[in-house]
Amino acid sequence: MTGQTVDRAFLLRHPLPLPEGEVDKDARGRVIVIGGSREVPGAALLAGLSALRAGAGKVQIATVESRAAALGIAMPEARVLGLPESEGGDIEASAAQVLLTRIKQEDAVLLGPGMLDDDVAGDLAAELLSSLDGPHLVVDAAALTGLREKVGTLKKHSGRSVITPHAGEMATFLGDQKQAVEADAPGAARRAAAATGAVVVMKGTCTHIASPQGQVWECKHGNVGLATSGSGDTLAGIIAGLLARGAHPLLAAQWGVYMHGEAGQRLCQSHGLLGYLAREIPFQIPKIMMDLN
Ligand code: AMP
Ligand code: MG
Repeated sequence: MTGQTVDRAFLLRHPLPLPEGEVDKDARGRVIVIGGSREVPGAALLAGLSALRAGAGKVQIATVESRAAALGIAMPEARVLGLPESEGGDIEASAAQVLLTRIKQEDAVLLGPGMLDDDVAGDLAAELLSSLDGPHLVVDAAALTGLREKVGTLKKHSGRSVITPHAGEMATFLGDQKQAVEADAPGAARRAAAATGAVVVMKGTCTHIASPQGQVWECKHGNVGLATSGSGDTLAGIIAGLLARGAHPLLAAQWGVYMHGEAGQRLCQSHGLLGYLAREIPFQIPKIMMDLN
């Protein structure tokens, strides 16, 4: 059973919180993106850029040592932290202690974009999540699949987290066949939400959003141009930015998914259906938010 649809009318009835009174960049919301790897450093940049475009005030990017300087130059708005890397070029689990000191001030933590190795990413994610207390979380990609046997570490953050798997990642996470997940996407989303206590964004042509309480929304907004490298990293970054601004995880997921689809629609209008780039998605977001709020 699928419940409501997330569309323009839905978002107009459920507005985002807006900054009130005297607000500086810290009060606008702080995000730390933990991700990127030697071979995929740009995913962290896409996510960080997206968090700022969704209205967060400050972004830190914590990535592998060998790519930190390049990322800092490519994204002058970000504070960049270089961390020890594994042989395969992922952030090592031993980085968790340093990260915990940097996360203290953050409103939202995005973990996973551009990470490659499930086991290394899962070890780091488990170390972090078992000690972390407070900030909102988005867990994506290898950091999520790496937690498949450590679901309890996510459960500890019930009510303040969002996970963003596509069907393949969901299948790995649940220990199911991808075909079975695709055959009942709302059911898979609901099961993952119940198991983790997180809001689940199960991505696809139709994206399903499930709450830990068992409600499911669907969003079909967007187009096939969004099926492009880096697209999911921008979605995770948008959701993290909205969380940092104070949106509830469910609202951040609903707004993030719809705006990501709307960005695809606007890019299709301006550039054509195929060939727009993930890095162009975040540039659409501020105007979309103005048009919707
Ligand atoms: P990822 O596979 O992690 O890069 O995520 C791809 C993103 O693009 C997800 O948000 C999907 O929901 C979205 N997407 C992919 N294909 C389509 C499509 N045909 N229509 C709408 N959204 C799509
Ligand atoms: Mg992805």
